[in-house]
Amino acid sequence: MTIFEEVKELVDVEAAARHYGVEVHRGNMALCPFHRERHPSCKLYADHYYCFGCQAHGDDIRLVQELLGLTPIEAVKQINSDFGLGLDVDKPPDMAAVNRRKQEIAERKAEQAKIERIYNILLRYYTLLDRYKIRFAPKTPDDEIDGRFVYALQNIGYAEYMLETFNRFDKEQQEEIKLEVDRIEREYKRILYEWGE
Ligand SMILES: [Zn+2]
Repeated sequence: MTIFEEVKELVDVEAAARHYGVEVHRGNMALCPFHRERHPSCKLYADHYYCFGCQAHGDDIRLVQELLGLTPIEAVKQINSDFGLGLDVDKPPDMAAVNRRKQEIAERKAEQAKIERIYNILLRYYTLLDRYKIRFAPKTPDDEIDGRFVYALQNIGYAEYMLETFNRFDKEQQEEIKLEVDRIEREYKRILYEWGE
């Protein structure tokens, strides 16, 4: 029996999930740690898990691996140590390396969230201007020109440019235009305030 098989034998998926902070509900349904959800859709079986939401699946070693950012052998060592299995593994996992990897994962997620937020602001700004441009366009030559129409015409090209090019920028450039996006966000809020939406 390999050490992997021994660990799988000794620790079931549910125990591992609970131990590493997964919230397990009735019927062994868990809140999936791999995608955001409010209702549990990750089923814990004796020897494996399967998420009906994001199709994440695997055994207890895979689970611990993914949760803690470990390699398979590190996950085995981690479980061995945390559950006091007393299996003969050469040495405990390198916690410094583990923490580094966890840190990297956290940083990647934070970076992703930041980018999504920026894109969201640009998209909302552009969408609002696009709406103004159509809805407040003068219907006849005698109509008084609506301020929203003028504003939209003046700014929509820029908004569209920012939106389209944002995804092409690399990380450093995205950091640079973040200040500009902050300005756009304030501008977006100001318009909503001024024109009462
Ligand atoms: Zn999932």
